[in-house]
Parts: sequence; C-alpha cells; structure tokens
Amino acid sequence: MVGDRYVRWRSISESDRRAAIVSDLAIYFGNEALSPSTYDEVDWPGEPWIGGGYAAFMPPGVWTSFGEALTLPVGRIHWAGTEIAERWAGFFDGAVRTGEAAAQAVQALLSDA
Ligand SMILES: Cc1cc2nc3c(=O)[nH]c(=O)nc-3n(C[C@H](O)[C@H](O)[C@H](O)COP(=O)(O)OP(=O)(O)OC[C@H]3O[C@@H](n4cnc5c(N)ncnc54)[C@H](O)[C@@H]3O)c2cc1C
Repeated sequence: MVGDRYVRWRSISESDRRAAIVSDLAIYFGNEALSPSTYDEVDWPGEPWIGGGYAAFMPPGVWTSFGEALTLPVGRIHWAGTEIAERWAGFFDGAVRTGEAAAQAVQALLSDA
C-alpha cells in the first residue's frame, strides 16, 4: 500500500486488514486462502531503521547533478545496486541491470590483466 491508500489502510485494525487481504487471496487461490497458517504484515514507515517506503529516492536535482559519481568505480571497487540504476531504480530490474554491468566491467578488467 502506498500514498493515500497507505494512510487509509493504516487507520483500520489489523484484523480488518487481514480479513480484506485473505478475502482477496481467496479470489485467486480459493477458500483455503481464508485460513492461512500464518499472517505477517510489515509497516515499512513504522520500522525504526527504515522509516519510509520500500525504495530510496533522491530529491530533485541530486541524480542529474551527482548521479555519475554514484556509479564510478573507486579503485577496484565496482558498484551495483538498484539505487544507481539508470532505468528501473528501486526495482529488481534496476538491481539486475547494475549487477550485470558491474560483472561485465570486472570481467573485462580481469581478461585484460
Ligand atoms: C516490501 C518490498 C516490496 C518490494 N516489491 C518489489 C516489487 O514488487 N517489484 C520490484 O521490482 N521490486 C520490489 N522491491 C524492491 C526490490 O526488492 C529491490 O529493488 C531490490 O531487492 C534491490 O536489490 P539490490 O541488489 O540493489 O539490493 P538488496 O536486495 O537490498 O541487496 C543488498 C544486500 O546487501 C547486503 N548488505 C548490506 N550491507 C552489507 C554489508 N555491509 N556487508 C555485506 N552485505 C551487506 C544486504 O543484506 C542485502 O542482502 C520491493 C522491496 C520491498 C522492501
């Protein structure tokens, strides 16, 4: 849940949230989904060491002014991670793209050595 939906969702009780979720799951998986063996929720903004959404974002101007510095290798250290992806930053796709790019860069250096 994000944005206004998160605000509304947080204001209802856990038992009501659970009921809404399992009834949705039952649409896809049948009535067995109405009685899960476990049910866990994570409230990301409520996590003391996270305090926000599930992905990092930069305020306006940071990426366009300093983005290149995030990706430059430092000595033998090459960076990978969704936060430095030029496309799909904050998602698995961005993580995979930067991982592949870092692996290719290191592989090229090793084959030159
Ligand atoms: C609740 C939630 C839902 C999400 N839903 C989606 C979704 O539906 N679709 C989607 O595309 N993306 C989703 N994402 C985002 C996606 O999970 C991330 O973009 C992706 O996992 C980032 O991959 P990464 O390799 O960059 O970083 P991470 O997956 O964060 O990997 C970093 C790793 O480094 C390890 N690490 C950290 N510090 C150290 C250290 N000092 N030494 C050694 N290891 C260390 C960590 O333990 C971790 O394993 C979601 C994320 C969350 C939290």
